Amino acid sequence: MKHRVFLRSLPALFIAVICLLGSVCLSASAEGGYTKFTRRESSIFDTEISFIGFAPSEEAFEQAYAPMIETLMQYDHIFDAYNAYGELHNLYYVNRHAAQEPVEIPDELFDLISWCKEKWNAGMRTTNIAMGAVLSIWHEYREAGLADPASAKLPPMEDLLAASKHTNFDDVILDAENKTVFFSDPLLTLDIGAVAKGWAADAVAPYLYEVLPSFLLSLGGNVYAGNAPMDGRANWAVGVQDPLADALTVAVGGTEILDVVDVRDLTVVTSGDYWRYYMVDGERYHHIIDPDTLMPSRQMLSVTVICESSALADFLSTTLFVLSYEDGLSLVEGLDGVEAMWVLPDGSVQASSGMGRFARKIN
Ligand code: ADP
Ligand code: MG
Repeated sequence: MKHRVFLRSLPALFIAVICLLGSVCLSASAEGGYTKFTRRESSIFDTEISFIGFAPSEEAFEQAYAPMIETLMQYDHIFDAYNAYGELHNLYYVNRHAAQEPVEIPDELFDLISWCKEKWNAGMRTTNIAMGAVLSIWHEYREAGLADPASAKLPPMEDLLAASKHTNFDDVILDAENKTVFFSDPLLTLDIGAVAKGWAADAVAPYLYEVLPSFLLSLGGNVYAGNAPMDGRANWAVGVQDPLADALTVAVGGTEILDVVDVRDLTVVTSGDYWRYYMVDGERYHHIIDPDTLMPSRQMLSVTVICESSALADFLSTTLFVLSYEDGLSLVEGLDGVEAMWVLPDGSVQASSGMGRFARKIN
């Protein structure tokens, strides 16, 4: 069953907690001796981290919060593709050395690469973390274009085509016993941006369940909602950003929210064309690249995925962003416990059959 709703602004309703993707606005009262605490952090994963937790005291909250930040920082270093950290065999190190000899890597990185390779072997190849050669060209042109918009350029297609010859995941050789990775193609590199935040959210979630009665973690748009908030509500309310809202809409009192999903013990992840992009000749070129065309995908404005695993939601949001709505829908309907909401280029919204259980405007 498909649903179709149209962009409209939310009526002025009181939403106790709305987590806007990328920024969190809050108001809620505590109940039963628990108080709500919120924190923001912007030095990890090159994104804004927002955290809400209920705890009996600020001290108890800090005791839970600080180790989580510490763990996320470790993941940030291991997953970092641009910086070295001493002797750490992080992604930066791997991309520079794994074509010369097998590199022993931390479990955190080994497990992520193995999981992505399983997806590749299962035929899910739209999100390909072995596409670093192509993605780094886009990254370079985007950074240059942002630094000097007047001379922003598109990467030459011949460069992209040449790089695309070095994106075969089969050339990433993993040795589970020795925890090593080796690239049998010397020009191949990994880019794990499509799954890293979701992977890290899943990594800290079991700890958070142990130390806090309820929490909500947002890693720059990857939202992990734990147990129900302890203010009487059954669910967390997570805002799905309207990809067509711009600063002007907001300035004249419009809303940036397309819909609100009510969730607990679930993650909500959105991929959108408004996160990272640059302009060339008045056109927006965003950061999610179709492996077939080697260009930013024009299929969607945004895709939001809800499921239990944040890594899977992150992987799928990127995948669905590149697939047509029809192909994406049949993928999602074939997966247990996964729902999705698509915003198409004309602004219309589509949703998978079970999305109505969560999204307020879909039934
Ligand atoms: P965000 O990181 O903004 O939340 P995504 O999860 O969709 O968004 O990941 C986008 C990132 O994934 C890009 O910045 C790039 O590093 C990488 N990427 C882009 N296209 C692909 C693709 N087709 N396969 C794998 N990784 C991709
Ligand atoms: Mg993703």
